[in-house]
Amino acid sequence: MRFRRAQSRRSAERYSALKGIQDILPPDIYIWQRVEETAREIFSAYGFQELRAPIIEATEIFIRSIGETTDIVEKEMYTFSDKAGRSITLRPEGTAPVVRCYVENHLYNLPSPQKFFYSGPMFRYERPQAGRFRQFFQIGVEAFGTSDPKLDAEIFSMLRLFIERLGLKGLNFEVNSIGCEKCRPDYRKALLNFFSGRINGLCPDCKRRYEYNPLRILDCKVDVCIELRKGAPRVMDFLCNECREHFNALLSLLKLLNVPYVINPDMVRGLDYYTRTTFEVTSEQLGAQNAVAAGGRYDRLVEEFGGPPTPAIGFAIGMERLVALLRTPTLNQVQGELRTPAPEIFIATIGAPAEKEGLVIANRLREKGIWVEVGYAGNSLKSQLRRADRLSAGYVLIIGDDEISSGKLKWKRLSDGSQGEILFQEVYDFFFKNLRLIQS
Ligand code: ATP
Ligand code: MG
Repeated sequence: MRFRRAQSRRSAERYSALKGIQDILPPDIYIWQRVEETAREIFSAYGFQELRAPIIEATEIFIRSIGETTDIVEKEMYTFSDKAGRSITLRPEGTAPVVRCYVENHLYNLPSPQKFFYSGPMFRYERPQAGRFRQFFQIGVEAFGTSDPKLDAEIFSMLRLFIERLGLKGLNFEVNSIGCEKCRPDYRKALLNFFSGRINGLCPDCKRRYEYNPLRILDCKVDVCIELRKGAPRVMDFLCNECREHFNALLSLLKLLNVPYVINPDMVRGLDYYTRTTFEVTSEQLGAQNAVAAGGRYDRLVEEFGGPPTPAIGFAIGMERLVALLRTPTLNQVQGELRTPAPEIFIATIGAPAEKEGLVIANRLREKGIWVEVGYAGNSLKSQLRRADRLSAGYVLIIGDDEISSGKLKWKRLSDGSQGEILFQEVYDFFFKNLRLIQS
């Protein structure tokens, strides 16, 4: 309710958040927290440790890794000069900063593989629409130091477990392999061949991509390009023996782990650093912006950042899209668990002495971790009770002059209306017993 009122008042506000950037408020924040806690729990079980890289980096880091002819670098970066004239970019994704951090801190000297997760805001200057924002949050993982497809399978099954643990159903898990620097040149040639007669029809960006990076035409979102690329050669048919073996090994490990997947031979991903395994988790419920999570191998990137040859793999989950799915009414079973938390106890008081007593009791219970609310500013009993009700408090305690002189206070359980009296000194025992019952 509070939030609806805030919204309708908005036109009178002097300031608003920037376009495409949103505030995250209760009760939504509880869905966010649950997602973050679930990620932490599951990723830890697979040996991933948290890493916090900065939100801003030298622009070069992103251009070199993501690729000059990608959507992100061509159109979407928040780039500015700092006071010393250096080019700085708000991170559009998490992998490049983590790789920079891995190399700069010589983390390759630690036993391999090293596994990290991160979470935080990313920034892309995109056209805001459903599921597409200018500031959005990702939770991502990056693992360094082995090309063993076992790691790919583990990461893929970890993502699957995470999605399942959140109670989400009906998502598609798509995998592909896009080869390595050995097989890519042949594929590139085949693409150039295919598009050579169609260049004139391509969008201006793709005309340039044809020159520099024809693979990127396959990721273009413009309708004419989508039409013109129908029937284009598929990277899968050009894989070298090692890449093919790697991919087959991954698929058989996924079967071993009972992880369902579909092969999507058209998925190339929108960033240049990927090699071999790529994957995406999509949902039909999200409309056009259907990818919830995406990732892949990037076996060359550490070297390009000046580190030793270090194969690596990672993925990123789009938080806003995941939260949107968790909010969907068809997923009611999850909604139940995501109920907004409410105070366990509300202490309503009448008169100054009772107000003091109430504050002392509240403090003691809070020290034990119990959420207690009190009335403020001498509000009438009626308005205090109304607030307790609105907050969906578990119990209300009522203290007035009579209670202080009798040494007993009144309690009421709002869920069933049951009530009674207890001695002041019994309050703590009473609630520990009862609240433990409600919480379990
Ligand atoms: P898309 O095809 O939707 O533009 P992408 O390939 O640009 O996605 P990635 O760079 O792979 O996206 O980012 C991983 C995930 O982050 C996406 O699957 C999506 O869930 C989320 N994401 C990417 N861009 C945005 C955005 N502008 N707003 C909200 N979420 C986003
Ligand atoms: Mg994009």
